Amino acid sequence: MSGSCCPLTLSSDFIGVATKSDLLKGERLFSEQGLREVPVRALVLVDPGETPHLEVQAVPDPVPGPGQVVLRVLACGLCHHDVLVMRGTLRRGVKPQVVLGHEIAGEVVAAGPGVADIRIGDRVATLQTNACGHCDRCQTGRHHRCRVGTGIGHTVDGGLAEYVAVSAHSVAPVPHGMAPEEACLLGCPIGVALKGVRDAARVRAGETALVTGATGGLGVHAVQVAAAIGARVFAVTTSAEKLERLEALPGVEQAILHGDVDFAELARAMTEDEGVDAVVDTVGSPLFRSCLASLAQYGRLVLLGEVGGERVPLSLAELVFRDALIMGSSGADREHILEAARLASEGKVRPVVFRKLALDQVVEGYHLLRERRAFGRLVVMGL
Ligand SMILES: [Zn+2]
Ligand SMILES: [Zn+2]
Repeated sequence: MSGSCCPLTLSSDFIGVATKSDLLKGERLFSEQGLREVPVRALVLVDPGETPHLEVQAVPDPVPGPGQVVLRVLACGLCHHDVLVMRGTLRRGVKPQVVLGHEIAGEVVAAGPGVADIRIGDRVATLQTNACGHCDRCQTGRHHRCRVGTGIGHTVDGGLAEYVAVSAHSVAPVPHGMAPEEACLLGCPIGVALKGVRDAARVRAGETALVTGATGGLGVHAVQVAAAIGARVFAVTTSAEKLERLEALPGVEQAILHGDVDFAELARAMTEDEGVDAVVDTVGSPLFRSCLASLAQYGRLVLLGEVGGERVPLSLAELVFRDALIMGSSGADREHILEAARLASEGKVRPVVFRKLALDQVVEGYHLLRERRAFGRLVVMGL
């Protein structure tokens, strides 16, 4: 790893981009002033739409501001969030001409003033939000909900670029030797799944947990997290072609095809009509009724995604008489990245990469995701 031979501890008295010799590595070229002479390649969302217009462009070199680090991007996952922005479904707060991507694994190549405990050459994974590190949320382990946070690859440019500037509070180290295409998934989706399953739904060993959208990037990891906790896992898919592969996923007790027979009926049949202790739903409104109908007494339904955006019918009596809980969960914090890294290192959760793409193949990836042809995550490499 470049830079690891002479680690440089960054502190508040470290200003700007250090010296040329600190930063001259790989293809990154600097002038005597420490500025790049070659522009950075990035994938810019020129125009969202059913077939989005994406363009590889030369963009200004990111300069680390106070509290920021610049990463050389090694890998960046393609999330359903990116698909929604590319399609134009999600527009609120999106920067015009945004560079997408928040699932980043990268190597620290520069740091701004006030950055401590991060060294040039460190390999890190990012959260989805640039956090301030000081507000009440950041101080209580909720960097992803920072009061003044900006969405990486949403409000500000993200990781579908050679280099990206992010908050030093929004990165966590990745295990030595972990492949970048796996490391980039530690925050979202693995950390997101961990927070949803362990913290929100509070799944415990011996309980039953049902995961919808189980072949998707989030679901495929939620299944494994629930299994790692010791739950009996039922994994639901609507795709007959993926059923066999889902059955082979570690931790799946029963793969369920949702189609002619509602998965709620099958879930009840498999639990002696009691229902499941937790439903981890990565799909949202299209499956809400079945998710609710699957719940046991004291069941918890955690919503991690919404693909439809429709309103749903809800019988309040059903909630009352079940003593049930419905909640949402999004994002992940640094602690989740660290725990996700531990689970991956111990082989308890295997990052599932469906395909690696080059920067100019992202539109292809967009169509694969929209048509739900992927099993697990698509990762952009070779940036
Ligand atoms: Zn994501
Ligand atoms: Zn904050």
